[in-house]
Amino acid sequence: MEKSNQKILMVDDNIANIRIMKEIIGDQYEVFFAKSGKECLSIIHSIKPDLILLDIMMPDMDGYEVLRRIKVDERIANLPVIFVTTLIDDKEEEKGLSLGAIDYIRKPFSIPIIKARIKNHLELKSHRDKLEKISSLDGLTGIANRRKFDLQMEAEWRTAVKYRHPISLIMIDIDNFKLFNDKYGHLAGDDCLRDVATKLSDSLNRSGDFVARYGGEEFVCILPNTEKKGAIKVAERLRTAIEELNIEHNFSSVANHVTISLGVNSVIPSLESSIENFIKEADDNLYKAKKNGRNLVYYS
Ligand SMILES: [Mg+2]
Repeated sequence: MEKSNQKILMVDDNIANIRIMKEIIGDQYEVFFAKSGKECLSIIHSIKPDLILLDIMMPDMDGYEVLRRIKVDERIANLPVIFVTTLIDDKEEEKGLSLGAIDYIRKPFSIPIIKARIKNHLELKSHRDKLEKISSLDGLTGIANRRKFDLQMEAEWRTAVKYRHPISLIMIDIDNFKLFNDKYGHLAGDDCLRDVATKLSDSLNRSGDFVARYGGEEFVCILPNTEKKGAIKVAERLRTAIEELNIEHNFSSVANHVTISLGVNSVIPSLESSIENFIKEADDNLYKAKKNGRNLVYYS
């Protein structure tokens, strides 16, 4: 059987159990092990497993506590967890399931049954991942959509608040795009949106930087851990990159090719700061870039 690229993290304080599981599923999946709850929590983010097999009775931290901690960490809260345990009491099973485990397997288990259950849960996980990906993407341009932007913005904002890091936003609008659509037609308009989106995306070269289609001919970039000076540099690079695409636009008031206007805003947010104001100020600066002649970066 071909090995799946899905990853399983097994957490058990008993080496013998780990060996058995490795024997059963090691040839089908990439399997990682942790011998305690603490170890599980310390490696889970770097492994990013698709499924966790979790023992309940472990010294230091029991499986219930491990699951509780997974559930309050939004980055991993949706990871499917199966309890694999010698506890045979229905009350224990009920407790495990009510904490959010997707399944509960009692030891000793039947090998074909545990294999089938693991396979089923991993298939569901893979479907969920696909749906999540589709619902995050803008259908026309293939970059992130507005919904994904909202989620990403909230997550990056929380990180910035927590670590007192600066965060920057760039709001972007294609200049005279209505005229472009009117004169060249909507198909050309769609091509233009796609080309601009791809160029913006390709022009962001740090791994945390993020670009989404905000709506219509508007795009937005989140630059985590970036001060105003750096954000202005990035914005200027994006502006130049779109100019260099050299998409003909003979009806623009700015140039004979497609250009963009950009509004930059940067902040070191505190608990009292509001995302809405932060976005609004970037949007206001975009508006000022338009008013000041377009094809330029405006910041306050
Ligand atoms: Mg144990």
